[in-house]
Amino acid sequence: MENHNESLLIRKVSKTYANGVQALHNISLTIPPGMYGLLGPNGAGKSTLMRTLATLQEPDQGQIFLGELDVVNQKEEVRQTLGYLPQEFGVYPKASAEELLDYFAVLKGLTNRAARKEATETLLRQTNLWDKRKQKLGGYSGGMRQRFGVAVALLGSPKLLIVDEPTAGLDPAERVRFLNLLSELGENSVVILSTHIVEDVSELCTNLAIIHQGRILLEAQTQQAVAALQGKVWRTFLEKNKLPEVQREHQVISAKLLGGRTLVHIYSQMDPGSSFERVEPDLEDVYFSTMTGFYGQTNPQQIKEEVQR
Ligand code: ADP
Repeated sequence: MENHNESLLIRKVSKTYANGVQALHNISLTIPPGMYGLLGPNGAGKSTLMRTLATLQEPDQGQIFLGELDVVNQKEEVRQTLGYLPQEFGVYPKASAEELLDYFAVLKGLTNRAARKEATETLLRQTNLWDKRKQKLGGYSGGMRQRFGVAVALLGSPKLLIVDEPTAGLDPAERVRFLNLLSELGENSVVILSTHIVEDVSELCTNLAIIHQGRILLEAQTQQAVAALQGKVWRTFLEKNKLPEVQREHQVISAKLLGGRTLVHIYSQMDPGSSFERVEPDLEDVYFSTMTGFYGQTNPQQIKEEVQR
């Protein structure tokens, strides 16, 4: 049984900016403890939702609860137990990691010197920065800065950790190291990873939501969402000029260049013919078929039913 006391509940949250852009349309999500992926393209509304959860801006409508806490109306209490790693984590280039982390620890209320020393040492070791703790942050790589951001976000053992587009600026090796770090975080707190990168979610997140144009298109368990596409994804390789034809005749999930040819995935309940072969679906198929709408009407209940069938 899910323990709703520890979950983050988002209920009918909407937000329109002063310029008239409606970034969130009536968003409702139930986010249990553990790693949760919020997946969507640029402009989908992810940062707006993340900043709202982090108490940095208010929704026009709707309610948000973290356990017993009312996120919109009890900001101070929420901030005591919140870790937020924004897209761009600004640092003071002349401070060392050790100095700045200690400073943030004081701000977080860790006033006892010995306790603070222990907490910051644990975090610097956990984020693999212990050996570099005396180095100035201005000399850190993007990946090291992100890991330092995680150390800051984890101060005070937050119940809610929000990580917004964390791997965007990282090279592949840094990205792997960063994802490994996130995967080690406890299952006891709610960790929300907002990203447009499908692999970030498929590698880490038990549950996910797909957001597009301010609306939730899918809310599901990652594995179940993939399983629901079993047997319905087919692929073929094409010459590029054949793509429009296939698009007319089939429900194309995705088309990408691979070794000079176009690899096309289509959605079909039935065998689409001999030029296609069935493939094991993955989260990318879930994402693109949700975005294109073939799978868009699918709600979590429907996925559950399909999996049970
Ligand atoms: P994402 O994080 O998924 O890229 P955002 O939440 O940043 O999406 O943006 C959602 C929509 O809201 C976009 O159309 C964006 O241009 C708009 N938007 C975001 N922040 C503001 C703002 N402060 N003022 C006006 N429009 C904004």
